[in-house]
Amino acid sequence: MLSDTEIARQIRPKPIGQIADQLGIAKSDLWPYGRDMAKVDLNALHRPTGKKGRLVLVSATTPTAAGEGKTTTTIGLGQAFARLGESVCLALREPSLGPCLGMKGGATGGGYSQLVPSDRINLHFTGDFHAITSANNLLSAAIDNHIFQGNELNIDPRRILWRRVMDMNDRSLRHIVLGLGGKQQGIPREGGFDITAASEVMAMLCLAADMDDFCQRLENTLVAFTYQGEPVFAKQLQITGAMLALLRDAIHPNLVQTLEGVPAFVHGGPFANIAHGCNSLMATQMAQHYADWAITEAGFGFDLGAEKFFDIKCRIGHLDPLAVVLVTTTRALKLHGGRAVDSLGGKDVSALRQGLDNLDKHIENVRKFNKEPLVALNHFSGDETEELDVIKNHCQKVKTPFVLCDHYASGGDGAIELAKQVIQVAGQSQPYSPLYSLELPVEEKIKIVSRQIYGADDVAFTRQAAKDLRQIQQLGFANLPICIAKAPGSLSDDPKLLGRPRHFDITVRRLQINSGAGFLVVFTGDILRMPGLPKHPAAERWRLQPDGSIDGLE
Ligand code: ADP
Ligand code: MG
Repeated sequence: MLSDTEIARQIRPKPIGQIADQLGIAKSDLWPYGRDMAKVDLNALHRPTGKKGRLVLVSATTPTAAGEGKTTTTIGLGQAFARLGESVCLALREPSLGPCLGMKGGATGGGYSQLVPSDRINLHFTGDFHAITSANNLLSAAIDNHIFQGNELNIDPRRILWRRVMDMNDRSLRHIVLGLGGKQQGIPREGGFDITAASEVMAMLCLAADMDDFCQRLENTLVAFTYQGEPVFAKQLQITGAMLALLRDAIHPNLVQTLEGVPAFVHGGPFANIAHGCNSLMATQMAQHYADWAITEAGFGFDLGAEKFFDIKCRIGHLDPLAVVLVTTTRALKLHGGRAVDSLGGKDVSALRQGLDNLDKHIENVRKFNKEPLVALNHFSGDETEELDVIKNHCQKVKTPFVLCDHYASGGDGAIELAKQVIQVAGQSQPYSPLYSLELPVEEKIKIVSRQIYGADDVAFTRQAAKDLRQIQQLGFANLPICIAKAPGSLSDDPKLLGRPRHFDITVRRLQINSGAGFLVVFTGDILRMPGLPKHPAAERWRLQPDGSIDGLE
């Protein structure tokens, strides 16, 4: 089969204006960025269209490090809907440079189910990540400058919560000392960088209802404590006006298309292991406002991305997906059944059978939100018929619809059956129920997610976590939803526990108040918010071609 780049080179995308016309977006709301990309003014959400797109959520079983194809399936499914004559629009996350350059590669799908222009979407795109990085770091600079200029607010430099960010995997910036060099260089203190995808500004952009709401969220962001232990909010640094100015374009969703000309809003990009993991609420609403079907993605696995999708995003944005697709692959199930990670391509029916435990837990988890899952097996060229039959028969046994999908090799045609089943399931959907009520104590919310979704026996709180919990209570933030940062490769907080781990505890190390985003970040296991590069990063394969295209991105 051709490479992603070769496939993409074979088609000439429609001008982006034509894609916008297809949706009925007014010309005055479209801001083209070159020929193939555009931003759509948020005003477009207020134009009457008579549409309220039915929402479809695509998630997955516990993935391998390469990813099991949620994005690819979302794109393939959208293309299948279009082939069936349905009006459809996608809502997806913007790729981060971290995984693009690091381990995983690009995030624009693959094969005949890709977003275009993938190299531009993967690299810089319309500049949203840069704007978020700048706004985040302006606040950092303002905090340090405030202290340098006399520290009227009495900020304790040892208790600054707000960290700098960068869109790069760079482990050496996790913990640093700032302000060295003498009197004129600032006040020395410990600090550090997170990746931009974990910035609270990213989360705020993704959960904001509109510009005013975004502004309020920025102002309400807790950034530090004073020497007396009083909280300091971003508003007190007089800088949120400038932050919003830096973000004025970034807040408007980006419009691109798939290889088969299906419109896609690609906007916001928090990771689900260290942040809340879904594209912007505005992009989802835009897709729903201009098409009869809106398809979106949440993951890594359902335990991380989709739990947060339901408990954070649906709650804040009043969304309710009518169908939930669980993507799985033979390689992921074999990994979770004990096969070595470097030989997942080989046939191993026994490992696959073992790995079905992982699939079962995710099926069970979807039902906890009062939804009926649909299992989509993302077909890889090396898959053996016997392996496919094992999964199919198992799904029959546990009374869960199963569809073998071939959208990677065949585009929309390969997901027609999936689209038909989604339409059927959507017709019988019940309203979703969140997993926990916001009024419960924070410990209880964490225990509910850990026990019910991860399958843990109990939750252990370190001394620091217990202190953080008391502070959350004192400051009046206990009613916020929780956003658990956890290893993506296991249902537990230990990346080595594969399959369906049992008899384990989740360890909560500390908690962080994201009062602007409106959730509490719960750090479990060894999870960090600044990833590192692997020994051989994907970046080693990138080559700029004479025609300006980039090879090696997939
Ligand atoms: P996710 O969104 O779940 O992280 P992606 O859709 O980004 O996963 O897919 C991960 C990687 O696997 C991408 O490089 C994609 O091109 C590739 N991929 C997806 N489906 C297939 C398939 N059926 N065959 C081969 N490669 C695939
Ligand atoms: Mg993805």
